[in-house]
Amino acid sequence: MLPTSEFSPSGRPLALYIVDPADENYEKVLPMFSADAMGHGFYVHGHDLLLIDGGAGLDADQLKAVEAHEASHAILRHTEYNNPQFELEADELAVQMLQDRGYDDAADLLIDRLEAPNENE
Ligand SMILES: [Zn+2]
Repeated sequence: MLPTSEFSPSGRPLALYIVDPADENYEKVLPMFSADAMGHGFYVHGHDLLLIDGGAGLDADQLKAVEAHEASHAILRHTEYNNPQFELEADELAVQMLQDRGYDDAADLLIDRLEAPNENE
């Protein structure tokens, strides 16, 4: 049983799966992480499932930022990967959700990225 992301909208639990390198599924999901702009997370369309790379050495703030970003894709019902407009919208909603919950350091990570769009993929 996977934990539910705290960014889940009411009535719609988003499962959070932080994939450990020791996990049998790790090799299978690793290539998918690079499909998203952050490279460390992935939202599985239609399954309300957020995957985060547990082997990337992310600290607590980075993990929270990735989780909020991927949850935003789910909440906004994005159905396309690598869409620059969707990435922007996901970051903006994630910043709002992080700040609402007091994760200001995690929010700042995304704000820095929004202010330096040339460094985005
Ligand atoms: Zn994204």
